[in-house]
Amino acid sequence: MQDNAYLKCIDPHCGLEYDISSTRIECDKGHLLDVKYKKIPSRVLKELFYNRRNPQNNIFNESGVWRFRELLNFCQIDTASTEECSKYLVSLDGAEGRQSKPYHMSKVAHFVETKSENLWLQPEGYNPSGSFKDNGMATAITHAKLVNAKKIVCASTGNTSASAGMYAANEDIECDVYIPSGQVAPGKLSQAYQFGTQIIQVDGNFDDALAKSLEDAKKYDGYTVNSVNPFRIEGQKTIPYRALEQLGWEAPDWIVYPGGALGNTSSCGKCLMELYEWNWIKKIPRIAVVNAEGANTLFELYNGKFEETELRWNKGKPNVELIVKYYKHLDKNGIRPKTKATAIQIGRPVNILKGLRALEFTNGVVVEVSDSEMLDGMSIVGLNGFDCEMASGAVPAGIKKMIKDEVIKKDDVVVGILTGRQKDPMLPVDYHNNPQNRFAIPPRDKK
Ligand SMILES: *Cc1c(COP(=O)(O)O)cnc(C)c1O
Repeated sequence: MQDNAYLKCIDPHCGLEYDISSTRIECDKGHLLDVKYKKIPSRVLKELFYNRRNPQNNIFNESGVWRFRELLNFCQIDTASTEECSKYLVSLDGAEGRQSKPYHMSKVAHFVETKSENLWLQPEGYNPSGSFKDNGMATAITHAKLVNAKKIVCASTGNTSASAGMYAANEDIECDVYIPSGQVAPGKLSQAYQFGTQIIQVDGNFDDALAKSLEDAKKYDGYTVNSVNPFRIEGQKTIPYRALEQLGWEAPDWIVYPGGALGNTSSCGKCLMELYEWNWIKKIPRIAVVNAEGANTLFELYNGKFEETELRWNKGKPNVELIVKYYKHLDKNGIRPKTKATAIQIGRPVNILKGLRALEFTNGVVVEVSDSEMLDGMSIVGLNGFDCEMASGAVPAGIKKMIKDEVIKKDDVVVGILTGRQKDPMLPVDYHNNPQNRFAIPPRDKK
């Protein structure tokens, strides 16, 4: 039983393999790693997953992550044994992913100009720490526990630290978070304090904070839970699982994500590659990534805006030189990522290669939207009675753009992931106080 799961380098021309208990985030040659499973899971599990929606007092059935535990069983436990689940699996009392499924939102559909029944939006902001990060953090901290990690380390634009801090506190493990000084939304920063993390302020942006945290994790034996951690990627596969389950495992035409470090994009790609290989889905949905205009590395490289070369996974032989050149160009010209959507204010997406692999497998597209388009997107979600943050507003904004440009066709079924809830309270206040904004409802004074 102990040899079903292992780690494997993503580069098909390298393919180095490691034991599942390894804490490395890259192979000896510096490539990212995948969690791999040897056995093909039976499609009969679909019924088991569905039946667990009546959890019968089992928190691992209640959890929207661990409900799918047979597909994430890197601990290689007996998934039917509650005792083994309790011993190994990290869960915040079954809360991660529990409330998350896709909904129709008629006002958003009207905004993006499609039929309401063709548009599904899945709010991940109702996770216990308020973002999709909990899906992957439950699995990453599970692995940290499996290998007896003494300290959790991450860099964060806010939500990663909130999620890591929450689980670390609950499991009584130390947690250090590296943040770009002064660039984290107050609602996120306060969570990191509240959960007792050690905040380490880095003078610079998220990319600098990540570089520092990786360096220190190596030096001081910390366990990194950023999305370079392949076990984070495993948990985030449950985001598309839940969407697909709601759609009766009939794949939609599109799945749309905001693009930051590209962990979600990578995870969705891996999820779809596996489900397709296992014959669980017949059709491959296309992934669309929405960048902020002010942090659009993937958009520029993928669409040939830099040196007129379209960067592709190219069956495992991507033009890595082009990425290096692009980063040099950013440095040389002092170009720093800049958007009010701080969750996606990232210039060097660490998962870019996995992201490219996902885009190649799904025939994906990358678009960009402005800050004001994201704010409109965020606000129209609010007018449907759902809460989301500005980075998530990139999703309706991007869908609108793709429908207008006929990239998304009139009858296509679209699932958009709303990645987090509002933690930057002044953004909606400022938005609504400016009558120029499309959906603003300014306050009235009582005469
Ligand atoms: C982390 C985060 C993102 C970016 O996701 P990646 O997987 O890094 O691309 C987007 N939105 C929110 C709310 C986030 O917290």
